[in-house]
Amino acid sequence: MKASTVAKQKNNRLRKRYPLLWWGGLIEPVTAEQVEEKRRFHIAKQAESEERWVKFHADVLRRAHEYMTIVIEAVDEDWRTLQPMFDQLRKYPAAPVYASTFWWRKLLEYAPAEAPRLCPNKQFHEAWGALSAHRQCPTCKVALNYVPKPTPPRQLIIEGIL
Ligand SMILES: [Zn+2]
Repeated sequence: MKASTVAKQKNNRLRKRYPLLWWGGLIEPVTAEQVEEKRRFHIAKQAESEERWVKFHADVLRRAHEYMTIVIEAVDEDWRTLQPMFDQLRKYPAAPVYASTFWWRKLLEYAPAEAPRLCPNKQFHEAWGALSAHRQCPTCKVALNYVPKPTPPRQLIIEGIL
């Protein structure tokens, strides 16, 4: 639909809904340029979102392939072990995130020594290590070196308050 037609429809709607404000001049009429600008903005947003989607799924697929390769190496290309895995994976939806998660779980099962190097949450290991709540990474199960802070003696705490 042409931008001028859309602007006209919008103005008609505004005039019908708010007649007093419209005829009192308190509502600015919508122009065709404003409609065009809004359309360009939405098209740009859409393109940006599609780009992010493609990039994310490419990354997820790359990781799924990496994990799968490691699992196949870990089981020494034994097809009696691999065939049930592929049969199981076929039951999941075709979206790449399912394959990535599936192969990550198999990697934790068959090659846990490789997990800390490939952990998707590797950048948080240090920060989580500082928290007492995380003794190990919830994703790759590697032990995080948590060092409890020495608590000052009770006497010193009371002196600090006073
Ligand atoms: Zn981790």
